[in-house]
Amino acid sequence: MKLPLAYYGDPILRQKCNKVTEINQDIHQLVNDMIETLEAQKGVGLAAPQVKHPIALFMTFAPKKDESNPEKWIPGELKIFINPKIISYSEDTSTYAQGCLSIPKVYGDVTRPFRIVVTATDLKGNEFTEEFTDFEAQAIMHENDHINGVLFIDRLDPKEKKKLEPQLRELKKNYDMKQKFQSKS
Ligand SMILES: [Zn+2]
Repeated sequence: MKLPLAYYGDPILRQKCNKVTEINQDIHQLVNDMIETLEAQKGVGLAAPQVKHPIALFMTFAPKKDESNPEKWIPGELKIFINPKIISYSEDTSTYAQGCLSIPKVYGDVTRPFRIVVTATDLKGNEFTEEFTDFEAQAIMHENDHINGVLFIDRLDPKEKKKLEPQLRELKKNYDMKQKFQSKS
């Protein structure tokens, strides 16, 4: 089942998420629904708080540069991270224009470490440690921020963020209006 998204202005996006204590049937169901939602939205990643579940779980589906031809992008693989922790960051960085399914039509350049090492638990309950680079690492750091209540707009250059303020105010207004309407009905 496709899940409704939480949009900018929703306090759930600013919450620090709880650890997953047991990978039970509910978690499997949530992951299946999140995959369906991510595919429908054609996103490169989705974190549980974005579908209104404040738990430490996210997935990425990031395309990769073809090793023999760095101009060419090939489809990546779907990766699921439960209770993730980024245990090391490289000093070298890469910069990509980022967007977020929870902040529609807002884009900005974010610079992050080029290489990271992550430990997390997979759906079978096994812990893994893996290194990620470049765009895939960026996607993982974006989603990992979500489970800590951080959004990519927090990492923009202040000048760039200022330019996006009117759009963000509009999104916040939409959210507040929707809440008011729902509390009356
Ligand atoms: Zn996002």
